[in-house]
Amino acid sequence: MTSTSDKPRIVIVGGGVSGLSAAHRLVEWSRDNGRPIDLSLVEGSDRLGGVIHTIRRDDGFLLEAGPDNFITNKPAGIRLVERLGLTDELIEPNEQHRRAMVVRKGRLCAIPDGFQLMASPSVWSVLRSPIFSWGGKLRMAMEPFVKAKRDMDAAYDESLASFVTRRFGKEALDRLIQPMIGGIYTADPQTLSLRATLPRFLDMEREYGSVVRGLRKRRSGTGGDTGARYSLFVSFRGGMSTMIDALSRVIGQESIRMNTRVTGLQRASESDAPCDQRPWRVEIDGRESIEADHVVLACGARRSADLLQQVDTELADVVGSVAHASSAVVHLAFRRKQVGHRLDAFGFVVPHVEGMNILAGSFSSVKYAGRAPDEHVLLRAFVGGALQPDLMQLDDAAITRVVQTDLASLLSIQGGPKFTTVHRWFDAMPQYEVGHLQRVETIEASLANHTGLALAGNALGGVGIPDCIAQAERVVDDLTANLPALAGG
Ligand SMILES: Cc1cc2nc3c(=O)[nH]c(=O)nc-3n(C[C@H](O)[C@H](O)[C@H](O)COP(=O)(O)OP(=O)(O)OC[C@H]3O[C@@H](n4cnc5c(N)ncnc54)[C@H](O)[C@@H]3O)c2cc1C
Repeated sequence: MTSTSDKPRIVIVGGGVSGLSAAHRLVEWSRDNGRPIDLSLVEGSDRLGGVIHTIRRDDGFLLEAGPDNFITNKPAGIRLVERLGLTDELIEPNEQHRRAMVVRKGRLCAIPDGFQLMASPSVWSVLRSPIFSWGGKLRMAMEPFVKAKRDMDAAYDESLASFVTRRFGKEALDRLIQPMIGGIYTADPQTLSLRATLPRFLDMEREYGSVVRGLRKRRSGTGGDTGARYSLFVSFRGGMSTMIDALSRVIGQESIRMNTRVTGLQRASESDAPCDQRPWRVEIDGRESIEADHVVLACGARRSADLLQQVDTELADVVGSVAHASSAVVHLAFRRKQVGHRLDAFGFVVPHVEGMNILAGSFSSVKYAGRAPDEHVLLRAFVGGALQPDLMQLDDAAITRVVQTDLASLLSIQGGPKFTTVHRWFDAMPQYEVGHLQRVETIEASLANHTGLALAGNALGGVGIPDCIAQAERVVDDLTANLPALAGG
């Protein structure tokens, strides 16, 4: 690479958590190594954070238009929070009501105790549950006796629907596992890759011949897993944007360009260097361009694919072939006395077979403190996803109406909400379909041919916030490891 000075020029496209984490890691590296960098983070909109978007209202409500927490057992998230000095700002979900529910024939039922996304190590909790018919319960209880698939290697992949039906039966899929796992990825279980999302269940079948046996073994091996999933999650007192604000402070306003869209990317043409050694030319808003030695695309797979068209059409096509789903997040605020339900859970999921409009609901003000003023509740619902894309066509009033109707019947709500909001996230959720990991390998092999170009974001190595942070930091660690040493250094 023809770096004109000892100050590498780096452009990061996209100011969501992926782009900001990449920029932050570069600032840390520069400080720790005493190496100045010329950093530009370019964000197309007037707001940093991408899908992370907290709204703090004057009337005491705090709304999360996107993610409302993140998992702590993937260390990249928590480590970044520590380095940002934000640990005192972290909050845990409320102690009370740490459970989730599922809709069964239009009513909310508790998910069996200890149920871990796909199964419970305890047969009794499933047998006691009103969610399944007796036929369905017996089929689930048979799982340890279902023959393991032969010839599975560590790369074997299968759709969620196929795996669950094979091991636990169709009722388990339709009534609980589709909404629980499909809900996380707003995905179609018929296409969702288990290897790319929850490989541990495939590994349990391979190692122990059964998922339930695997859960029991792993539980005894770790001295007991309570299955209390929510204790694994944290948020911030002031909402998820706390992290975004802190990242932007460390990166510094001088390195961030807002309201600036990257519209093109190619190698500089007027240079004597061989093509793959030439700097990148990043086109901004179709009129201006900046030169860079390194470019990190953190603007989502769809936008990245558009930008890659001028660089490598094959690579652009593979990146662009990652399917995406859209969803809307709808908030509704009520006075507590309007809601007849006890709200003794953090929320619920809705099986597709129930034929409702919402995919899931959160009792936001039950889940985390400080989300609604006293005597009020804040509810939020998800709409759309891979299975109900048509609902995204409704206007805000119509979306709010269908959500309100569903919530009113599930939670016995009387009267209208104090206020409502609708936030739409188009193509925000990549769909990890069967074969996704091969696609990632192809993309990574192809990127290796383009010195100084990297891809971060949620389309390759995980959709959760800690996954995005880990991926962005990995990209920067590779970049800095390959920077030429300082002359005389
Ligand atoms: C509704 C919803 C709820 C979620 N809930 C959770 C949760 O609770 N916990 C969790 O861990 N994860 C959750 N996720 C997933 C997680 O939030 C995302 O995967 C992650 O935040 C994606 O971050 P990103 O920076 O890769 O992309 P984005 O947030 O999409 O950011 C991309 C940025 O690039 C910018 N951009 C695009 N094109 C250009 C261009 N040409 N030039 C300049 N800028 C451009 C965009 O404006 C945007 O700011 C949720 C996702 C959604 C959609």
